[in-house]
Amino acid sequence: MKFTDEIKRRRTFGIISHPDAGKTTLTEKLLLFGGAIHEAGAVKSNKIKKGATSDFMEIERQRGISVATSVLAFEYKGTKINILDTPGHKDFAEDTFRTLTAVDSVIVVIDVAKGVEEQTEKLVEVCRMRNIPMIVFINKMDREGKDAFELLDEIEQKLNLTVTPLSFPIGMGYDFKGIYNIWEQNVNLFTGDPKKDIEDTIEISDLSSPELDKLIGEKSADNLREELELVDGVYPKFNKEAYLAGNLQPVFFGSALNNFGVRELLDCFVAIAPTPRAKDSDSRTVKPDEKEFSGFVFKIHANMDPKHRDRLAFIKVVSGTFERNKNYLHVRQGKNLKFSSPNAFFAEKKEIVDISYPGDIVGLHDTGNFKIGDTLTEGEILNYRGVPSFSPEHFRYINNADPMKTKQLDKGVDQLMDEGVAQLFTLELNNRKVIGTVGALQFEVIQYRLEHEYGAKCTYENLNVHKATWVEAKDIKSEEFKEFKRVKAKYLAHDKRGQLVFFADSQFSLQMTQQKYPSIKFHFTSEF
Ligand code: GDP
Repeated sequence: MKFTDEIKRRRTFGIISHPDAGKTTLTEKLLLFGGAIHEAGAVKSNKIKKGATSDFMEIERQRGISVATSVLAFEYKGTKINILDTPGHKDFAEDTFRTLTAVDSVIVVIDVAKGVEEQTEKLVEVCRMRNIPMIVFINKMDREGKDAFELLDEIEQKLNLTVTPLSFPIGMGYDFKGIYNIWEQNVNLFTGDPKKDIEDTIEISDLSSPELDKLIGEKSADNLREELELVDGVYPKFNKEAYLAGNLQPVFFGSALNNFGVRELLDCFVAIAPTPRAKDSDSRTVKPDEKEFSGFVFKIHANMDPKHRDRLAFIKVVSGTFERNKNYLHVRQGKNLKFSSPNAFFAEKKEIVDISYPGDIVGLHDTGNFKIGDTLTEGEILNYRGVPSFSPEHFRYINNADPMKTKQLDKGVDQLMDEGVAQLFTLELNNRKVIGTVGALQFEVIQYRLEHEYGAKCTYENLNVHKATWVEAKDIKSEEFKEFKRVKAKYLAHDKRGQLVFFADSQFSLQMTQQKYPSIKFHFTSEF
């Protein structure tokens, strides 16, 4: 196959949702369609079980799953689909944000009864800011839930989206009869038989046809006609350009558990979802069909076996082809590396691959060369942007609890930070180390992994920080900046890249500082 055809047939996306909306179930059904798995239950949920905060076996279990489900690839009707797994737990939100830098589109799963939930809001906002094309799947139609129009309203308002339904439910819950597929103009009747792989659809291109009354009953048919008329009048028509630009979001209804409405979603997805997109770097925009390879690291996973310290770095191929045993430039380190056993991922296995195309994810064994955000090229000096650090929410001093193991502790902390588990800051005043995390859970993960993988012990001490902000000064020689550094010395630190960071202990003190030093900018992410 031609290089450009390989690009055109790829769809790399992520499924985002609030925990429990049905992400795992939907993933599984999609894989069933692709023939990538053959039974339900093959995809493990990457959820942290409730109350598992201090259950370390649970953390290990979760890590195991997150390796296994990092990327799930399958073929469907001639397209190669790569699903990138995104943790739903809020303590791991930053992992999800980073994974979103490697997707070309997303599917948002919403529970029909719960509507728009907190995590959905946060994740959709990130996608909206980056203009990532989104398709919404409203799940659990076999249960009583919100009225379809009410829910569409809620999605528009809370998620700030412009929706256009491409399917519409006929009843719901106990009374759920099926869906009308606006996209394909056919009716799919709900039988509630989850074993049925593909439901039989009945073509109804003319809604006034009496056949519709026969199928679902006169009352439901009239109701549906009215609702579809309303849909037609209220919502904008589907428009592929608007969808691809992130300005219009198609909506599907269904029940993942019953494998209902999923085929409709997948067929539409394959038809409209973007092929691998161009990506901005610090020097230029790189197109997927360029000959030379380039890609970036969006995830790093440590080996589960503490005896083997190697890690797996996940690279998204942006342009050209990634080939086994070929030399590539690690731009940050300025050195050439080649890889003898790059991995590709499939639903139930990973395999060594000789060649990967734009949109694909390659897993590279790494002994400590990679950090999240690193770029690989065939020699060109460029760095992909868009894998920023966000301000952590929790901050603690980290202390060495075993002076004989200082080296191990330093190495462990260093590697865990490269993996993106948390962020390390060094205070300017006294060189004390501070760890910042998105969720409280990470402190336990770090402590546990330091002990089990590096043989080091640490303790924590609370530190009152509201937000870490990255400092940008117009003129570092100015009197204003000098005064800022002197007055705020106690609150200044450096992140791992050496960038200056200001720790604000409250929202109020941040505002005061901003007012007092107008020429200094305080950023909430490390990339500006
Ligand atoms: P995740 O946390 O988003 O990955 O959600 P899961 O896929 O694990 O689903 C959470 C729960 O909802 C599980 O008990 C599923 O069996 C259930 N579920 C998923 N889809 C449906 C559906 O269409 N109908 C019903 N009734 N339950 C569903």
